[in-house]
Amino acid sequence: AIYPNDGADYGTLSMCADVAMYRAKAAGRNTFRFFTKEMQDQSERALYLENALRRAIESGQLALHYQPQISLDNNRVIGVEALVRWIHPKLGVVSPSEFIPVAEDCGLILPIGEWVIRTALSQLKQWHRSGVEVLAPLVMAVNISAVQFLRGDFPATVARILAEIGMPPDCLELELTESVALGNPDEAIRLMGVLRAQGVRLSIDDFGTGYSSLSYLKRFHAYKLKIDKSFVRDISRDPDDKAIVEAIIGMARNLGMRTVAEGVETAEQMAFLYDRGCDEAQGYFIAR
Ligand code: MG
Ligand code: MG
Repeated sequence: AIYPNDGADYGTLSMCADVAMYRAKAAGRNTFRFFTKEMQDQSERALYLENALRRAIESGQLALHYQPQISLDNNRVIGVEALVRWIHPKLGVVSPSEFIPVAEDCGLILPIGEWVIRTALSQLKQWHRSGVEVLAPLVMAVNISAVQFLRGDFPATVARILAEIGMPPDCLELELTESVALGNPDEAIRLMGVLRAQGVRLSIDDFGTGYSSLSYLKRFHAYKLKIDKSFVRDISRDPDDKAIVEAIIGMARNLGMRTVAEGVETAEQMAFLYDRGCDEAQGYFIAR
């Protein structure tokens, strides 16, 4: 039921077991478990996705969608966030939350991540050429996975792609989550320093949902904090979410960072964010 019936070889059971063991470890279970039917289905699906992903870039199945980010000062579009979509000929739309972990496990996150940065910057260059920057100098925000960030020489890869496309570093904003600092925080902070010195902007994505270590946050020296949509959703009625969003905006301002609220879907949310001094917003209310 998991594979298309196309007669291809989708791998052996021993490879499935490896993936399942990885998943068990990733889930923090430090014990052996029985290899259940459900786990087998999951790992068979992961293996199928891995093989399909190998062909996804060259066969043009990956696409980027761009969600506008506006300044709350003047309601102008000042940037866009590039969001990757995978449309597989048989499976249909595969969610990034499903295929990015698979790509991280098998190393494909590196070529996919490079493709995303290169494609997004080429698009931005086209927009600049066609005069869109007359409205405002657009910045391209690209999501970076922790695995992609920490493997190889990521700052050199970014510099190479910027030079290849011929775009200045300050038109690129890399969205990192707090999880980049999980394994080796000193190395992550060093890499962030190198990127900043190159002139690339850094933002902390999904802020408030991870470990939210304030000592790391101070050392990240990020340009922007992205307030996670789970807090934005109920700001017009939940006093706790109101307090959290206010606190994040105040803290970011005092640390010299801008704030952008994600997942803004109503006029009430926009009004609240504007009122509390949030700098930017994105979400379906503005443009899908
Ligand atoms: Mg993001
Ligand atoms: Mg986000």
